[in-house]
This record gives sequence, C-alpha cells and structure tokens, in this order.
Amino acid sequence: MTADVKKETLGFQTEAKQLLHLMIHSLYSNKEIFMRELISNASDAIDKLRFAALADDALLEGQGEYAIQIDLDKKANTITISDNGIGMNRDEVIENLGTIAKSGTASFLESLTGDERKDSQLIGQFGVGFYSGFIVADRVKVHTRKAGEEADAGVLWESCGEAEFSIESSARQTRGTSITLFLKKGCEEFADDFRVRSVIKKYSDHISVPVMMLKPPAPSAEGDDTVDTDIELEAVNEASALWMRGRTEVKSDEYKAFYKHVSHDYEDPLTWSHNKVEGKLEYTSLLYIPAKAPFDLWNREMSRGLKLYVQRTFIMDDAEQFLPLYLRFIKGVVDSNDLSLNVSREILQQDPAVESMRNALTKRVLDMLGKMAKAKKGNDYATFWKQFGTVLKEGPAEDTTNQVKIAKLLRFSTTHTDLEEQDQSLEDYVGRLQEKQEKIYYVVAESFNTAKKSPHLEVFRKKGIEVLLLSDRVDDWLMNHLREFDGKQFQDVARGALELAGDSEEEKEAQEALSKESEALVERVSKVLETKVSEVRATARLTDSAACLVVGDFDMGSQMRRIMEAAGQEMPESKPILEINPAHPLAEMLDQEPDEDRFESLANIIFDQATLVEGGQLDDPADYVSRMNQLLMSMR
Ligand code: ADP
Repeated sequence: MTADVKKETLGFQTEAKQLLHLMIHSLYSNKEIFMRELISNASDAIDKLRFAALADDALLEGQGEYAIQIDLDKKANTITISDNGIGMNRDEVIENLGTIAKSGTASFLESLTGDERKDSQLIGQFGVGFYSGFIVADRVKVHTRKAGEEADAGVLWESCGEAEFSIESSARQTRGTSITLFLKKGCEEFADDFRVRSVIKKYSDHISVPVMMLKPPAPSAEGDDTVDTDIELEAVNEASALWMRGRTEVKSDEYKAFYKHVSHDYEDPLTWSHNKVEGKLEYTSLLYIPAKAPFDLWNREMSRGLKLYVQRTFIMDDAEQFLPLYLRFIKGVVDSNDLSLNVSREILQQDPAVESMRNALTKRVLDMLGKMAKAKKGNDYATFWKQFGTVLKEGPAEDTTNQVKIAKLLRFSTTHTDLEEQDQSLEDYVGRLQEKQEKIYYVVAESFNTAKKSPHLEVFRKKGIEVLLLSDRVDDWLMNHLREFDGKQFQDVARGALELAGDSEEEKEAQEALSKESEALVERVSKVLETKVSEVRATARLTDSAACLVVGDFDMGSQMRRIMEAAGQEMPESKPILEINPAHPLAEMLDQEPDEDRFESLANIIFDQATLVEGGQLDDPADYVSRMNQLLMSMR
C-alpha cells in the first residue's frame, strides 16, 4: 500500500471561494445553523454507509452501531463533530470540499445583489452545507477515512476558508469523519456544553442517529474526593426517525426542523402532511410544501423527488418516481414496508407498487394544496402560487386523471380585477358568469400588459363579460390541455369567429347588416394583403381599435408559435385572419380612399399595427416605418 503522504496545497474552485466568502459574511447573524448542517451531513454519511453495508457488511469493520459524537474543548476553543459513517477518500475530499458540484452555481452567484439581508436568503435557498463551519471558525480540520479501507488511507484536510486548503495522508483507525472547528473570537459559546446541547435539541432531535456528548460530571457529594474518571457518553437528541412517530407526538417545531434537514432549505415550509398507510401497501409519507422556490427550479438537472427509505433504512435521495414532474417542488420522505432493500431506480420505474404509491401521494399533495387554498388563512396559498404556480400549470397536460383537481387550484389574472396578481380561481370566475354565458373566455399574450390591453377584449369589456388574462410562458400549453371546467368550455377570444351567447336578435341583425355594408372594403383589403392573411372579415368585437388578428380554430396560438420558433422548431406557415372594425374612422377613411397606392399603404399599416398590439414581430419593420413616415410627411 503506497499511501500518499505528501502534503499538498490546493486552491478552491472559483465558485466555492466566492460562496465561502459571501456565506461567512451574510450568515453571521444566524451562526448556529452550522451545527444543523454538519450534523445533517454526518447523518447522511451514516445513512449512506448503512445502505452500502446491505450489500457488503465488511464495510462495517465489525462495528455496526452508528453514532455522531460532539466533543468540546473549552481551552483550545474547538468543537469537533464526528461520525462513523461512510467517510471519504482523498479524491472525494478534494471533490466534495473543494468544489461545488451543483449545477447552476455560476448563475446563482450572479443573482446575488450585495444586499446582505437578501443575499442571506438566497444563500439559504442555495444550501449552505459544509462551508457553514466557516461562519464560526477561522480554521477547519477534517479527518476522514472511507469505510472498508485500511487505517493509512486516512486523509487530513485543513483550511482557513479563504483561497486554499491543504490535504495530506493521516492514518485513522476508525472509519468516518471528524470535523474540528477552531472557533473565532466571539464564537466561544459553541465550545460550551449547555449551549451546544440546546442547539442540538433544537435542530437535530429528529435525526435517527444518536448525537452523543460527554455526560457532565455529577456534582460530587461533600467530602467525597474520589474523582470519577470514567468517560461516559449520553445521547442528547431523541434519535428516532421522526416520520415513524405518531402525528400527535411530533411538535410543529420538530416538523420544521426536519424539513430543513431533508430539503437543505433555510426557511420554514408552508405546510406538510404526515401519513401512515396500512393495507395492501404499507408506507409512511411526510410531504412538505416549501415557502420558496429553489434557485434552480427551472434547471433540468434540479434535484427533485423524495428521500426514499425502506423499513427505516435510507435507500436514496431524489427518488423522483413517487411524484409527477409538475409536483417536483415537493420535499419529504417516503418509507415503504413493501419494497426490497436493494431496490434500484430502474426497478422503481417498473414496480406497480411504486405506481400506486405515486397516485396516492399525488392525490395527497393536491388535497393538501386544496386545503391550503380553502383555508384563506394568511397568505399561504398566494405565497405558494407566486412561487410554484407556473410549475403547477404543467399539471393538466401531464396528469389528465387529476385535471379537475388541478384546475381548481389554478389562479388567474382576469378582467374582473385587471390586476397582474393571479388570485382568481375558476370557481370564482364561474360564480360570476353572465346569465347566458356558456364559455370561459381567455386571452393569451406575451406579457400581462399586452393581454390586458388586447383589442380582442373590447367587446367583452363593453358587455361586462369577464376574460382570463394569461401571460405566462406555459399558458398556451396549459390552455391546449384544459378543455372545460364545471361543464363550461374554454374559449380563446383571439381564436375563430366571435359568438357571444348573450347577443340579442337586434345585435345579430346589426352585425349582419354591418358585414353586408363592408363587403366591398373587405374585398379590397383582402386583395392587398393576400400574401399576409388567410382571410379578412368585418367584426363587431372591436369598439376602439380599427383591426385585430385572429387565429383559425385549429391553428396554433401565436404565443405557442413564438415559443416553438424561439426553440428552433420549424413551424408550418399559417396566416392569421384580419378582422376589421368597419365603424372605426380609419376603416371609413380606408373605404373612401380613391388612390390605390395610398389604400395599399394604409391597409398594410393597419395590418402591421394589429400584429404589434398583440406583441408580435413585424416581418418587415423597415417597410412599416417608411410607410408610416410617408403618412406623417403628408400631414405637413
Ligand atoms: P451537500 O451536503 O448539499 O451535498 P455539503 O457542502 O454539505 O453539500 O457537502 C458536500 C459533500 O461532502 C457531501 O455531498 C458529501 O458527499 C461530503 N460530505 C460532507 N460531510 C461529510 C461527512 N461527514 N461524511 C462523508 N461525506 C461528507
């Protein structure tokens, strides 16, 4: 065995260095969290070993009792956190403690503002982990050895948390990791027995591994001068898997602390649901809804899924098979009695038991959200919607079985409030339907403002019919999959011919008369715009605008088209329908224009403007500008 004894000094990866620096400064006001992070890592390391030992019990080296130990040294002003978990080899130490492997780290760092309060929240969302030790220590020493290897495979890592760290071989008899923090001035409290015990109780009661500390010496009886030299350790935490305890036995603070352990989140969750299922399948689940979206919610490689245990034994993180993609923000634990201990991701994908657990867990989450939405207590649901609404909007397409449940959870901006805040439910909308209204109307645009000011809304506003205002990127996708709600079909106001059930006979007659009168104009415009539009027709949907674009009943919506094109997809050509408001002065002017060139120019301008108001791009902007300028010049 040729152990590498030489000491090396290596630099931290740039991102790691930046993060270290930021973290130390912005989290100092909440410095005790380093205990939670390091104990959490120790417990994860033990879980990993427990799992690996299922296949190879030699890894236990004859010592199958798992524990975390905390040693304090007041004189040296240090605290040491040790575990007998999986440990690390040299390469793993360099990789795990010298770099940040998370995808999206660079963009995360860019998002920091320099404002300490905001940054500390962001860093919390990112997850602080091992580096949090440097909040309280100006030097950190890690002594570790991988389970199952020889004593001389031990590694010593040391750093002052600035630019570099050193690494060297250093024998270690027992497997696992010890982390010694040399406490900074002002952080002496973390070498104090009483203080440390209370922090452990606060953050680590739920951890299933015992956290051991030296028993404080009993005050000696008077006259008794024998010194008790026995070193006695005692567990400071409850040390039972929290999810196995009864719901009534677990305090709300314990649930919150456990959430932080499983999610690496810094904030409290919005709510949770803890259930034990018995019967054909037996499992326990504890599901949390976070209050904040993780910084990488839109990153494809974002870690998602639950922590999977089989009969209390940790099996894997991020078991994504237990929830659909549109619920990827849910954190928590599922502990099954039916799965085998050597279950793999591949097996999970095919196991029918997993499939039925997934269905049940999905319902559970949707019910939890439904309850939160109904509670109207505080702003929890509004908070949830702001953070995760766009993810939930993927639901109706992915999960048709639960479409109705999901639809009830959706929130919209509508012309009822005209506010950008999405706070109206479909039930609210349906409750306000006009007498003969049979459809749920909506408009989709690039931005809220474009939607709100869409010319297609004019007649709806005039008649007081409410329209949903949609402007999120997923909205076209969502509306393609939502067919109806409460027996009412959805109708895109920019699609197809306008037909309002509430129209009176007179209105219908007036409209027919209108299209008769404007036949000649429509004919003339159609000729000029032949290559650009599929049809020109007169409309009664406009009151203030001269014209608008409409898509055919079976054509792709314009927002969807733009997204697909932006993604590099080739789209079949599809021309919009131009609808003209014959009562508009511009249309009248057009109708009376004797000069064909001027007519053509004006018709083109009207078409281009109809494209612009819906947030579209002109095919030939220069042409538009030159026509406009000619028109402006003619005013001289
Ligand atoms: P995270 O836990 O979010 O991955 P950390 O910065 O806390 O990030 O830790 C980085 C990695 O270092 C962990 O993923 C783990 O592989 C390793 N590690 C940290 N602490 C320990 C430990 N006590 N025992 C074994 N490995 C550890």
